Parts: sequence; C-alpha cells; structure tokens
Amino acid sequence: MPIYEYRCKRCDAEFEKYVPGAATAVLCPTCQSGEVMRKLSVFGLRTTGAFQASAAAGDGGGCCGGGCACH
Ligand SMILES: [Zn+2]
Repeated sequence: MPIYEYRCKRCDAEFEKYVPGAATAVLCPTCQSGEVMRKLSVFGLRTTGAFQASAAAGDGGGCCGGGCACH
C-alpha cells in the first residue's frame, strides 16, 4: 500500500498520507491547502527516471557516446 510523505508549500508542515490512486487529492492536515508536494521515499527512488538516466550515462563511456564513427 503506497504511503507517501508530503510537505505543504504553504505552512511547511510535513505529513504522511495513504494514497490509493494518483488522482487522490491530498490536502494539508494543518491548513487544508492543496498545494503540497510529495517527498521522495525509498520506494519512489527505485523508479525515478533521473537515477536510470545517470546510470545509462555512466555506461556510455565513449568519447562521443557512440553517436559518431570514431570507434
Ligand atoms: Zn499546510
């Protein structure tokens, strides 16, 4: 079950919320603001595109990334 950590942009409160679906509205429990951002969790880090991109860049290794005929 996905439980995410959030931070409210308005009052800086941090809270956790169970979110059964992406369309679920998340409101700050302190000020009821909808302006909250989800913090990265351990679960989220596994699927982040940035991590995969950096791993792929490290694999490139060549002088030009394989885009030319210099190899
Ligand atoms: Zn708030």
